[in-house]
Amino acid sequence: MKFGGSSVGSPDRMMETARIISENRRRETVVVVSAMERVTDNLVKIANDVVGGVDEEGIKNFIKSLRNSHASAAKKAVSDEELDGVLVSIEKLCTELMKVLVGVSYIGELTPRSLDYIMSFGERLSSPILSGALRSMGIESKPLTGYEAGIVTDSNFGSAAPMWGATNKKIKRSLGPKIKKSVPVVAGFIAGDAEGNMTTLGRSGSDFTASILGSALEADEIWIWTDVDGILSSDPHLVKNAKIIDEISYIEAQELAYFGAEVLHPKTIAPAMEKNIPVRVKNTFNPKGKGTLIVKEQKKITDVVKAIAVKNEVVLLTVSGVGMIGVPGIAAKLFGVLAEERVNILMISQGSSEVNISFIIEKSDLKKALRALKTAFPGRDVVTEIKHSSDVSIVAVVGAGMRGTKGVAARVFGAATKARVNILMIAQGSSEVNISFIVEQKDARKAASALHKEFVE
Ligand code: ASP
Ligand code: MG
Repeated sequence: MKFGGSSVGSPDRMMETARIISENRRRETVVVVSAMERVTDNLVKIANDVVGGVDEEGIKNFIKSLRNSHASAAKKAVSDEELDGVLVSIEKLCTELMKVLVGVSYIGELTPRSLDYIMSFGERLSSPILSGALRSMGIESKPLTGYEAGIVTDSNFGSAAPMWGATNKKIKRSLGPKIKKSVPVVAGFIAGDAEGNMTTLGRSGSDFTASILGSALEADEIWIWTDVDGILSSDPHLVKNAKIIDEISYIEAQELAYFGAEVLHPKTIAPAMEKNIPVRVKNTFNPKGKGTLIVKEQKKITDVVKAIAVKNEVVLLTVSGVGMIGVPGIAAKLFGVLAEERVNILMISQGSSEVNISFIIEKSDLKKALRALKTAFPGRDVVTEIKHSSDVSIVAVVGAGMRGTKGVAARVFGAATKARVNILMIAQGSSEVNISFIVEQKDARKAASALHKEFVE
């Protein structure tokens, strides 16, 4: 059984995507589809706009353009016999969304739960079109939402996590019989909680949907079709000679996704890894290209370092106070309150003097984090200062070949020093697959280029 996760760009791409699926499909195939280009962004934007006040005209115009772009994709990709049905689905969804947006605008409040509901329309609109396009090519197919496919999550709207036991069982039950005789097209990114409320798996979550389904169905392979040629050795906007990586291990790919390589949603790897299913990343614009193959272990490790990733939009927080010295439980309390607020910690370092603890979080979590910390440490007896600096980047050097290779750290920091990059904080995971450090954002390009030259070029 082969398995495809797919991405659909502009209206013209829908047809091409269907063609790629029909050419690459195996005996049993499930397709996961994401929203059409920029649709999710636009849904998020309109949702936030309408909270500000009732503007039915604005909502109508938004719906009109959404309907037009999807209808035009359908007209290009779907045969006359199938078209009416697909257009009816689009119409129904547009009417529903219109009501939701008007409702939100009257209430004047956008909860994470309503935002998930609104964001769900991107994938719910693209899936019937792609499914219709497959039927037009003579391939039996039906569209399904993520929930209908069996993905049940917690109610952490915006970034819901699958309840694995229920999810695996339901997927097998729901898709198992269908794949014997058809190619289901599942709306990526969206799922439902135990009460059946619409949830989403986090932005760019369609990849994750593909690996959740692939893992539950024990697929032979999971393919992620995207708009770049594979996983690159660095961000080509920062590093001139970034190249495609042919083969990479799960752990390395996971580290890279986590540290900002935007090709793959960071959570994609784990479900595939658990069942040892290879993941292939390929480009819909260049389907003949080899892409990147993600596997358990490479047969031969040729490079010590595979890639240099840079992550922006992060904040360096430093919590300090002489009262922290030798007092057990401060770190536990600190990270405990942050965990309660669901603030994700990307890197941690504490000097042995114990006067301060520094850590990195996403910029979008800053307000929450500061609020939580100020509440948890109100007086000035333990923590005297909470500082943050927003203009920083993480530079992560990733490679399984670093494990047990001596002198890598020296080369990393030697190269950074030669490039005159000031290093603000350092961390190495004990897996030794990555060394990451923090630099001022203005230095990120210099640092990445220097390291890429040192290790990859
Ligand atoms: N449409 C969703 C997003 O833009 C999910 C995805 O594209 O994978 O975040
Ligand atoms: Mg996407």
